[in-house]
Amino acid sequence: MRASRYLIATQKETPADAEIISHQLMLRAGMIRKLAAGLYTWLPMGLRTLRKVERIVREEMDKSGAQEVLMPAVQPAELWQESGRWTQYGGELLRMKDRHGRDFCFGPTHEEVITDLVRNELSSYKELPANFYQIQTKFRDERRPRFGVMRAREFIMKDAYSFHINAESLDETYQLMHRTYCAIFDRLGLDYRPVQADSGAIGGSASHEFHVLASSGEDDIVFSTDSDYAANIEKAEAVAPAGERPAPAEEMKEVATPDQRTIEAISAFLNIDATRTVKTLLVKGEADDEGRSGLVALILRGDHTLNDIKAENLAGVAEPLTMATDEEIEQTIGCKAGSIGPVRLNVPVIVDRSAAHLADFVCGANREGYHLTGVNWERDVPLARVEDLRNVVEGDRSPDGKGTLEIRRGIEVGHIFKLGNKYSTAMNATVLDENGKSAIMDMGCYGIGVSRIVAASIEQNHDDKGIIWPDAIAPFQVAIVTLNAHKSPIVAEAGEKLYEQLRQAGYDVLLDDRNERPGVKFADMELIGIPHRFVISERGLAAGTLEYKGRRDEEKQDVPVAEALPFLV
Ligand code: ATP
Ligand code: MG
Ligand code: MG
Ligand code: MG
Repeated sequence: MRASRYLIATQKETPADAEIISHQLMLRAGMIRKLAAGLYTWLPMGLRTLRKVERIVREEMDKSGAQEVLMPAVQPAELWQESGRWTQYGGELLRMKDRHGRDFCFGPTHEEVITDLVRNELSSYKELPANFYQIQTKFRDERRPRFGVMRAREFIMKDAYSFHINAESLDETYQLMHRTYCAIFDRLGLDYRPVQADSGAIGGSASHEFHVLASSGEDDIVFSTDSDYAANIEKAEAVAPAGERPAPAEEMKEVATPDQRTIEAISAFLNIDATRTVKTLLVKGEADDEGRSGLVALILRGDHTLNDIKAENLAGVAEPLTMATDEEIEQTIGCKAGSIGPVRLNVPVIVDRSAAHLADFVCGANREGYHLTGVNWERDVPLARVEDLRNVVEGDRSPDGKGTLEIRRGIEVGHIFKLGNKYSTAMNATVLDENGKSAIMDMGCYGIGVSRIVAASIEQNHDDKGIIWPDAIAPFQVAIVTLNAHKSPIVAEAGEKLYEQLRQAGYDVLLDDRNERPGVKFADMELIGIPHRFVISERGLAAGTLEYKGRRDEEKQDVPVAEALPFLV
């Protein structure tokens, strides 16, 4: 590519509304432009990298035996009604109507569509296992789109869905996908960790997230200094042994993610599906004689409203009962309800101390079963509170008894799930088994944030001059910068020649033939992050050399003109 004929849309100034480095550099390097909140155009320079990420994901998925499909972005409401998610999914689901008034949504994920396809196309256990994937545009109406393509509303995901006759087969494919994801993230040159994730809310039996380690990450991940144990913080809380933890500071006694037993108890008592609604428990107040806490607040998942827990569900279970006012909540948790951000306090239910039998379950009356330490706070929670939570987990021994736990920030770039038969049961996706009987299929699902990876890679690979791409996903691997080529035919000619030679050898090359000052060209190539750079000047040519500099190198070096290609290899 010739830079004179290519959109090099670089910017000197750091855009004011870009908070994290990858967002700043993607704008400054001319990779993306914002159209509206969470909506981005990929410019030619950015698209080249995005496509390279896609290619690596596709190659490894193909290698695993998965079959590529392409499903529609727009999905009919009927399928979502069948699975039950039309009403459950909440505000992230962009719902719309066509001209006939029929309901549709823009797909945030594709379990329903693939399950519908597979129940129609597959009929026998002999066709299983089967794994279908796509690389496709998703839309999620994120509450707070931010950080550019990192948390966009429209983004590119690789999503795969596998179908099985039994749990063993699902397990095999799950392990295969785990290995495939490692191969993908290795090839992408990312420093990442697979961590155990909590699968409770989806009802599956296993789940792992893949996190790129970066201080700008929105998730906390916990790992052991001396073993392979690694989990996201929600999962870590669910399994970490209670006991010697230091007491949380401040007024509030406990902040908790409900464990499975608690969830079941709440569900049974309140006649709700607590896996979908209850996000956090707050417990406050002096413990009474029997060790029960006084006030219990259930913070519901942000997408739920008070209607999900109706007062009559509580009647007879918890008496007396108060629906909390904003002030009461604020008093209870010791900070402003609005400042909790995504863990919205719009649906608190505060149960008085005399509701002992509910509190028993919620708090785990006998304390042993009370594995509660923290919540997955998002970034804008006041720091003091996050620190409190950190103190609670960090420094604990790990569940496997080896080493102590450390907490790092991670960017979730991939997520694999054993879904079990949740969707196949709801949507009656069956095949005939060996005995000719109809059998519900087991399912797995496997996502990768393709566009998020581009930003995550920059978070790990940059310096004060700009991006430093790994060769595998650099928009161009080599830049050739010609100096004063418009005045010097021999420089222009040497530039063309090297350009052709490297292209023939299979490199993606950007020939910077623009009529710009050398300093401008160097700064642009560094900002864009091209890993290898040759400079061609009259002075160098007179000595029979080109100048080479790797993007991470401190020093330049002279390379004989004829040895440029072998030098790269
Ligand atoms: P997050 O916790 O960041 O909201 P998620 O758990 O909701 O992500 P999944 O449903 O697991 O996301 O989707 C699979 C992958 O899609 C995620 O691991 C992530 O890499 C990517 N992804 C999810 N939401 C976004 C988004 N808003 N913008 C860009 N990528 C996203
Ligand atoms: Mg999400
Ligand atoms: Mg997540
Ligand atoms: Mg996820």
